[in-house]
Amino acid sequence: MTLYISEIFDSIQGEGVHSGVPMTFIRLQGCSFKCTWCDTVYAQAFDRDNGQEIQEILAQVEHKWVCITGGEPLSQPEGLGKLLSALYDVGIKTTVETSGLLPIPYWYLDYVESWVLDVKLPSSGEYEKAMQVLERVLYHLREQDQVKFVIQDTEDIDTMYSVLSLPYWNPFPTILLSPVSGYLNTSSSELCVHHAMLLEKAGFRARFSPQIHKALWGNRRGV
Ligand code: SF4
Repeated sequence: MTLYISEIFDSIQGEGVHSGVPMTFIRLQGCSFKCTWCDTVYAQAFDRDNGQEIQEILAQVEHKWVCITGGEPLSQPEGLGKLLSALYDVGIKTTVETSGLLPIPYWYLDYVESWVLDVKLPSSGEYEKAMQVLERVLYHLREQDQVKFVIQDTEDIDTMYSVLSLPYWNPFPTILLSPVSGYLNTSSSELCVHHAMLLEKAGFRARFSPQIHKALWGNRRGV
């Protein structure tokens, strides 16, 4: 089984509940969406110029944790399933980052330590598409999964609360509030911190989640 790869590199996890954990990152090619603030535009194209077999990919895994990201990893669903199963079989824990715009095959769930669902809010430009399919994704999320809201402004915050009030959650995963630029000293960071605290007080598990790899190395590839 061939998977089309954008890049494979080692770094620390920069966001979410595993922030700071050394991981091998496998970025798959392909995403048919066009988020306005996408910071991996180079991975959107599915140009099939770097096909790799599962064993070839496994040989490049240097850590006990792997983050599979994109693009949209579910753009290559069959290969993704085989890769997850192969990593699971050798005892490697995985997180998978997905946009929520494609269905997660339910038989993949248990191979993954933590799915990270990036719910698209109005500032992404993909909100309406995301709302059409959100039910089938939220329904499968588990407590150990993470749901990420990239926040630009108060419209995003209001929409996040609307999403959290939907009846499809069962149970709630950890909620990540991530400022749109990824950086700390911005108005969107202040919004994220404030509302993470409000959500915790309301009984959710909520985390302010800036992208610490960007604070360390800036907005560039391979980190
Ligand atoms: S879903 Fe992810 S990879 Fe695709 S355009 Fe949006 S941010 Fe970029």
